[in-house]
Amino acid sequence: MKKISLLTQILIAFIIAIIVGAIVGPSIEIVKPLGDLFLRMIQFIIVPLVLASLVVGVAGTGDIKKIGRMGGVTFFYYLLTTAIAISIGLILANIFKPGEGLTITQPTGEVETAEAPSVVDTLLNIVPTNPIASLVEGNMLQIIFFAIFLGLAITMIGDRAKTVYNFFDGLAEMMYKITAIVIKLAPIGVFGLIAPIVGEYGVSVLLPLLKVILLVFAGCILHAVLTYSFSVKFFANVNPLKFFKGVAPASLVAFSTTSSSGTLPVTIKSTEENLGVSRKVSSFVLPLGATINMDGTALYQGICVIFIAQFFGYDLSIAKQITIVLIATLASIGTAGVPGAGLIMLTMVVTSVGLPVEGIAIIAGIDRILDMMRTSINVTGDASASVVVNALEEKREAKQSEKASA
Ligand code: ASP
Repeated sequence: MKKISLLTQILIAFIIAIIVGAIVGPSIEIVKPLGDLFLRMIQFIIVPLVLASLVVGVAGTGDIKKIGRMGGVTFFYYLLTTAIAISIGLILANIFKPGEGLTITQPTGEVETAEAPSVVDTLLNIVPTNPIASLVEGNMLQIIFFAIFLGLAITMIGDRAKTVYNFFDGLAEMMYKITAIVIKLAPIGVFGLIAPIVGEYGVSVLLPLLKVILLVFAGCILHAVLTYSFSVKFFANVNPLKFFKGVAPASLVAFSTTSSSGTLPVTIKSTEENLGVSRKVSSFVLPLGATINMDGTALYQGICVIFIAQFFGYDLSIAKQITIVLIATLASIGTAGVPGAGLIMLTMVVTSVGLPVEGIAIIAGIDRILDMMRTSINVTGDASASVVVNALEEKREAKQSEKASA
């Protein structure tokens, strides 16, 4: 019998979850531990994986200039695609006006509106005061900062740091192995995560806010089809269909787990095995992307801000909308790759343009559904960056060896 591929297995699990959830209703909750188990299994991999693979990734390049170059390209790519994503969100929301003529009952219930940190604090907070505490708390940006410095120091010291390098190299390999084992459980995990959501919410509760949901979905798809297709084709000469198929396991796991950080092991595996991204690139570009690159979140923020403005009868001038692009870009960088983080950051965007924070409560009701789609795009965006950076690096290396042999 032909073995069914993991992607097909995940897809089948996904469809069965929707059907079973819709038929059984809220009592399908009993399968939730399966989903939680899968979540925990991939979460426990993340901190050691990011630390080890990034240290090895940076040290393995053996060349500080190269790291700087790769970092520069990656960062620029992330910023640009994020700004494009918000612009798509804003344009769609301005055309389709999701917040006008809606008859939603006023929000009830509390909503978490945690104070969003200022831009300066967000930046300062990247530097850990105690890297061991960052590891314990799982603070990704701080871990990345620490790992990059460790990697750089290994490169500078050379021979005397060889043991440390070998240690991280071995640890990284072990974490990849564990990932490969855990990922086999993805179909079960996806079933356990999706069925209870469909069982609990059904489809009908979504109707009043359907326009927002549809717009976020349409925007995400548009961004993927336009921006990512163009960039992988233009910069890496990769067929967009091949790209989307290759990254699909990661996109689907992101959709189910609503966590880019949680999906990271799957993203690394999919880009390396299906899209030929080298480990040096994937171990640098992807952990960074899972932490700072959130195209889906940015697009969602664009749509939701306009929705809230329209809903409460505010007019947003073009100047204010440009401010939104800037703030939402920063907010999406500061958003952690964990479930629901985007909603907290949306608070910052909403208040900074002077809109009523009550709007957040309306979005909160449907946020989980929106989170699925935006996380899926967040991860797909990270993968597209790894493909592009990989191709640029390959081109540069080919040119250099040409020069050397000439
Ligand atoms: N859940 C998203 C992610 O992990 C972040 C967000 O809530 O927008 O990528």
